[in-house]
Amino acid sequence: MPQILIAGLFHETHTFLDGLTTLVDFQIRRGQEMLDCLGDASPLGGVLEFAAANGWHVMPAVDYRAQPSATVADEVIHQFWQELMPFIQKDSFDAIYLVLHGAMTSQTILDVEGEILQRIRAITQVPIFGVFDLHANFSPKTAALADCLVGYRENPHTDAREAAVDAARLLQRYFTTGKRPHMQLRQPGLIWPPTGTGTGNDPMKSLENLARQMESEDESLWAMNIVAGFSFADTPDTGVSFVACTTGTASVLLETLAAKAIELNHLGLVTDPSADEVLAKLSPMPDGLTVLVEPSDNIGGGAPGDGTGLLRALLRHRIENAAICLADAEAVLALEAGERHIRLGGKGSRLDEGPVELDVELVALNDGRFELEDKNSHLASMCGDAFDMGRCAVVKHAGLTILITSIKTPPFDLGQWHSQGIEIEKMSVVAVKAAVAHRRAYDKIAARMLWVDTPGPCSSNLASLPYKHARITR
Ligand SMILES: [Zn+2]
Repeated sequence: MPQILIAGLFHETHTFLDGLTTLVDFQIRRGQEMLDCLGDASPLGGVLEFAAANGWHVMPAVDYRAQPSATVADEVIHQFWQELMPFIQKDSFDAIYLVLHGAMTSQTILDVEGEILQRIRAITQVPIFGVFDLHANFSPKTAALADCLVGYRENPHTDAREAAVDAARLLQRYFTTGKRPHMQLRQPGLIWPPTGTGTGNDPMKSLENLARQMESEDESLWAMNIVAGFSFADTPDTGVSFVACTTGTASVLLETLAAKAIELNHLGLVTDPSADEVLAKLSPMPDGLTVLVEPSDNIGGGAPGDGTGLLRALLRHRIENAAICLADAEAVLALEAGERHIRLGGKGSRLDEGPVELDVELVALNDGRFELEDKNSHLASMCGDAFDMGRCAVVKHAGLTILITSIKTPPFDLGQWHSQGIEIEKMSVVAVKAAVAHRRAYDKIAARMLWVDTPGPCSSNLASLPYKHARITR
């Protein structure tokens, strides 16, 4: 019975956001709390299920997870390592399985995953397998020090759990065959905004297809990862990369992928029209639900979710029967205290114009915990089966229904609206603060989906970002 040490470290770090992500922002699971994830929709849940089915003896160490947000405080890495190290030192296990994001950056460590792997390797040489997010900024250190990491194949991430199980299956293959793979990395020097990294479209679609074809044709290739990168973490490894897990050599395959990515680069460099430009074209309002996507305030990418750019545009254009959700705990408190004139949003980013002053009619005040309607969504991969938006208020102003949450909530599950009594399917317009990952929830109810540019930290316009470390060669 193989003994597997399992640990998790999951954060997509947006280094252009104000502030720090500290220990209180992390959900920390230890020992039995990790084992309790068995059967849930998260990658860890998937690994545990595979382990149970295949007779692995699991040694749970520690699992740190936080939503995408600003640069991580060094104290988080310090504490994580202090907790993990004693397990690594036990040396009574046959392999390590890591549940990673892969785009984590702290105050002084640009490549946190690479640094942790280096510390692990100073103690043990056992195989290190694991799973990571397609938006990782994959470093040469990580490629050299881990044996076989499998990334998600889909964006929106519907397969996070599946990718985790795939990686576990490959670890089982190592135990069965005795063959130990290694990783080969190719970074073509490209950076795409999140809006350019959906796998339903090129360039990712063609690259994914190529990679799956390569896997089917080459027996020594255990996995070929198409890694889109995370453009808002400014590090030397930021951007697109290709990572082969192989027992042979994958140099030629990696060159083929790099050439394809360079050929399709222009399709990854998506930019969006302004909100005013888009809304001007929605008069008269066409039938069916129009989904307006505001990537500059992409919560899944770490933005505060309280940006007022699209809200202001909806008010300016007097859009009727429209819904928008903002995260603003202060506004919820004010409404609970009986105030009906609120200062809404615009508090989370210096790139925003600031709060919007509104007279509102209160519709409801509620608890914000809801059961996910879609247990395979990206939200499930982050939080399991339920999400807590904190105390919530539903208010109306002119033609707008505004859901105000205390905790920012990535718009990846329609339960967010339904749990608050809002029949989102019956609206004419809904604004979502996302880039791509909302599509799994909204494609099925949208008559049309339009991306708009507003001021904010996750704008697709990468030229507006003050990069210091990233190396863009094209
Ligand atoms: Zn991702």
